[in-house]
Amino acid sequence: MTSPDLRVPVLIIGGGPVGLGLACELGWRGVECLLIEQSDGAITHPRANAENARTMEACRRWGVTDAVRAAATPSDFPHTVIYATSMRGKEIARIERPTHGGSQPTSTSPERPQRCNQLWFDPILAARAAQFPSVKLQYHWRLDGFVDTGAEVIADVTDLGSGRPLKIAARYMVACCGGRSPVRKALGVPLEGEKSLGFPINIFFRTPELWRYHDMGKIAMTFLIGPEGLWGNLTALDGREQWRLTLQGTSEYRDPATVDVKAEIARAIGCEVPFELISCLSWVRRDMVAKRFVYGNVLLAGDCVHQHSPAGGFGLNTGFGDVLDIGWKLEAALKGWAGPHLLQSYDDERRPVAIRNVGEATANFRRQSVGDTRAVLDETDEGARLRADLGERLIAETKRQFLSEGIALGYIYAPSPIVCPDGSPKPASAAHIYKPTTFPGSRAPHAWLEPGRSTLDVFGRGFVLMRLGAAPPDARAFETAAARCGVPFEVVDVTQPEIAELYERQLVLVRPDGHVAWRGNDMPGDTRAVIDRVRGCEAA
Ligand SMILES: Cc1cc2nc3c(=O)[nH]c(=O)nc-3n(C[C@H](O)[C@H](O)[C@H](O)COP(=O)(O)OP(=O)(O)OC[C@H]3O[C@@H](n4cnc5c(N)ncnc54)[C@H](O)[C@@H]3O)c2cc1C
Repeated sequence: MTSPDLRVPVLIIGGGPVGLGLACELGWRGVECLLIEQSDGAITHPRANAENARTMEACRRWGVTDAVRAAATPSDFPHTVIYATSMRGKEIARIERPTHGGSQPTSTSPERPQRCNQLWFDPILAARAAQFPSVKLQYHWRLDGFVDTGAEVIADVTDLGSGRPLKIAARYMVACCGGRSPVRKALGVPLEGEKSLGFPINIFFRTPELWRYHDMGKIAMTFLIGPEGLWGNLTALDGREQWRLTLQGTSEYRDPATVDVKAEIARAIGCEVPFELISCLSWVRRDMVAKRFVYGNVLLAGDCVHQHSPAGGFGLNTGFGDVLDIGWKLEAALKGWAGPHLLQSYDDERRPVAIRNVGEATANFRRQSVGDTRAVLDETDEGARLRADLGERLIAETKRQFLSEGIALGYIYAPSPIVCPDGSPKPASAAHIYKPTTFPGSRAPHAWLEPGRSTLDVFGRGFVLMRLGAAPPDARAFETAAARCGVPFEVVDVTQPEIAELYERQLVLVRPDGHVAWRGNDMPGDTRAVIDRVRGCEAA
């Protein structure tokens, strides 16, 4: 084989939010990586709009939360969701989200969920990634094929600017190349689930201060219900002038050119309004998860391996969970302290989360089916009764779609080959409820160590052993065992009784991604066995 034109430790394919997030995470870790993206990186149509608290915690690590908040809907723009017949019609239900937006922390996270569309979010990530000395971004470079030799991945790439073919050798390749991933296809990875739940159409338009044309107030998302059922969703993008009207869609593809944009916008608002059409396109609502996330030296992440209905806003956020799981494992593998099964544990840990989130998104979508609404516009007692009953049901059944802290913070890697179970029962989980826990595999809880410094801020660089309370056991044996394996390890003493109570045990070992690897009130008999397990020496 001819020698490669370039050699890199990690090659990332795709500069969507997941590839860019991984570039930030690896950059933050000082891991050298090259990201290639076939396009120029410009985002012209709004997709993901909602960053959950966990995604914002990743942004906090990379130092971009201020930029995201500044680009997000303004802090005084409410995150309110309503169901209505139109913006000037009847309101059917209203769900407030007081824990979203703004910069004040909540009790469970130092960061609040934000609404910053990919139009602005992706460029913030790209700019940040480019600042890390170990990261290189190449736009207009396309992956055409690859071979995994076992020792490395040899990628065939075309520089689309010059047409020049390139060979890039990478120790690891991470496919973040979206739903149509050529990497997934080349590997023959099956996707399980439903290929299509319908073909919605997005109308992206500009009308400054649209709220002046109705009296519902500023609303983040309005679900529109007519006699035929739920037919659309109007989403505020920048909180000023950019909006997306999503038409619920048809079971067959419909050419967006056939949409009467003016009439659809007028129907959503309840009157004609001036607007500038930015774009109108069709997309497919999917429910699919890949059968495997790891193939030798190739890892797959984001939409490449899980494709969600947007109901709940889980797609990008689940991809960010992948990024946090992959980053430290790649670093460990490259620095030589990973056990032989550490990279495979990415599949063991993230695939169940993807299955859960994709399933919840589809269930959210189905819960929006509103039944017989033929009388919803009627100015009769029957119409009023229908709206009242429907409103109650929608609040009860769909609140979890908009307040999904359990999905954001409550996922637990258990069972996992790199987490040590302690015999306690796994806490019950629900999409809308997050209860802080140090159950092994869970995200270690947030608490303030001092003003502005969260427990989460001490996690990341290596393993952290939290010694909690007034008289925790001596933990030096742990440090020695970790040092012998080259595992980066730090002990942090926390004396605040409320944090000791929150952390439930006197010793809590936290991984670089902020998940609990082990906990106990006494030192384990064999600290080396614990260190070996958490660095991936045991197969699943
Ligand atoms: C209407 C809508 C609303 C949504 N709302 C939300 C939301 O509120 N919250 C949320 O979390 N998610 C949401 N999502 C989902 C979210 O947009 C996706 O999950 C997210 O964009 C996936 O990111 P990704 O980086 O994995 O893939 P993509 O964004 O698809 O990026 C993949 C990139 O890979 C590049 N690429 C592909 N092949 C190659 C190649 N051969 N060589 C080089 N580059 C290549 C592509 O050009 C592309 O830039 C929504 C989706 C839709 C459609």
